[in-house]
Amino acid sequence: MPFKSTYPPINIPENVDLWTLLFSDGSPYKREFPPTKEILTCPVTGQSYTWSALRDAALAFGNGLAEKWQWKKGDVLAFYTPNSIDTPIITLGALFTGATISPSNPLYTPHELAFQLSDSNAKALITHPSCLSTAVEAAAKSGLPLDRILLLGPEKSHPKFQHYTSLSLPPLTNTNHHPVPISPRNDLAFLVYSSGTTGLPKGVPITHFNTLSNLLQASATEGRQFPWATSVQLAILPFFHIYGLTCCVLLSILSGWRLVILPRFDMVQVLKAIEQYKVTFMYVPPPVILAFSQHPDVGKYDLGSLRVLHSGAAPLGGELIKRVWERVKVPVKQGYGLSETNAVVCCQEVGDWERKMGSVGRLMPNMEGMLVGEDGREVTEVGGEGELWLRGPNVFGGYWKKEGQEGVFGGDERGGKGWFKTGDVVRVDGEGNFWVVERVKELIKYNGYPVPPAELEGTLLTHPDVLDACVIGIEDKSLATEVPRAYVVLRDGIPRTPAKSEELVNHVAKLVAPHKKLRGGVHFVDQVPKSPSGKVLRRIMREQAKKDARQS
Ligand code: AMP
Repeated sequence: MPFKSTYPPINIPENVDLWTLLFSDGSPYKREFPPTKEILTCPVTGQSYTWSALRDAALAFGNGLAEKWQWKKGDVLAFYTPNSIDTPIITLGALFTGATISPSNPLYTPHELAFQLSDSNAKALITHPSCLSTAVEAAAKSGLPLDRILLLGPEKSHPKFQHYTSLSLPPLTNTNHHPVPISPRNDLAFLVYSSGTTGLPKGVPITHFNTLSNLLQASATEGRQFPWATSVQLAILPFFHIYGLTCCVLLSILSGWRLVILPRFDMVQVLKAIEQYKVTFMYVPPPVILAFSQHPDVGKYDLGSLRVLHSGAAPLGGELIKRVWERVKVPVKQGYGLSETNAVVCCQEVGDWERKMGSVGRLMPNMEGMLVGEDGREVTEVGGEGELWLRGPNVFGGYWKKEGQEGVFGGDERGGKGWFKTGDVVRVDGEGNFWVVERVKELIKYNGYPVPPAELEGTLLTHPDVLDACVIGIEDKSLATEVPRAYVVLRDGIPRTPAKSEELVNHVAKLVAPHKKLRGGVHFVDQVPKSPSGKVLRRIMREQAKKDARQS
């Protein structure tokens, strides 16, 4: 029997879009904080926005997009920028017009960005001056006109490219109701990119209903724990990833938390910001938890305001959680989620961090789960392990252009269609707390960033000496992350030397974003394990690598 969330069900309205949820009088979510509450702060530029100033700036941008560029529902606006205080304004303004946002990693190479621009059919691109040259190269490759590139960050930073505010057009009346009819169940709010279960990057379409559901689910669990009047969140998670977009940007605006935004992760800046802004909590990936446990400057700053650190996006063991507690007396709790579920699936409550150490918490309200064993049968005993299959209002409906769709959803013999197979093996205790045990899908996570192995294999095959390749993730405990490692078959007569291995590592490094580098090295093998249909069996290589690591 599938199991239901142990939280009481919540009411998720069918006809409300994101703009209405966050800003309109028609929102089903009763805003408790005043419109003059400061909710966005940038320590770098000194800029800040109250809730109403954010709404007005977003409205002006959305109005400009619609009036000056005749922006229409479903048009895709791409982002290629480090975190900025301008990101929430542009995102919400574009959502106001019915646009779909497709964010990408600001460290992507021109080739990687061009792929996303073409695949998402982006009509315009928002970028930062520091990313402009790559953005221009990618736009040229993908056929995006250069006058559709808008800059955020400092105004008047470039003579040729427009700043997004030059498009902004304050509306004649300060309307609460946006003019585009949105069908929340069908219209896309976001098109994020993930490698899913098969290892190649593909679009994950997320409807207004998916995001709204996840915000209300998270609000019913996380929101309860962090009151608006006293909560200050420090954001270092990238806003292009679903975890940062949902938990930092959107949940903060909904909840009225003050969000202090740093453009990138730098531990000393983080420590300074915690002291200066009396930060109360942060959503982070595991390597930031590692930094709290060992960075030499941690003791130099007053971290007394920090109530909790929340880790997600990749596995985190109990050992590090204990080390952080011993060092700074801050509890570390965990959550688990995927792009395909619009971020949050499980979230631990602050009070459970020690009692249920290492758990990622309980299933969000209105979600159902089921564990399926390797034999395809449902695992029913308490504490048993199996692949997690999910259903719920936040779960997506299938990949963009229906790519790689086979096997993504479970069959209807188990009580109806629509079970999303996560590719993660979990265990659940009698109280409904989840532990992520293992990943059976192809995805690799470096510092919480997804690394698609099939893409790196393709990149290796562009080297003339490489006959075949298999890329897997290897755990690096010293960095609290997985790192990608390649197993390569060289062409006949090419010597297997350390120099060749280094050459291949460098070859890949030149062609991919930094988080995809082969930090786990290149190892040479006689052959790559394959299924009869030619599919690379990365799982066999992973088991072999674990065995080798135990023996060494
Ligand atoms: P993404 O779509 O980039 O958010 O990646 C989702 C994947 O990240 C999941 O399917 C898991 O494999 C992994 N993941 C997310 N959160 C956790 C966690 N708390 N512990 C272990 N793995 C996680």
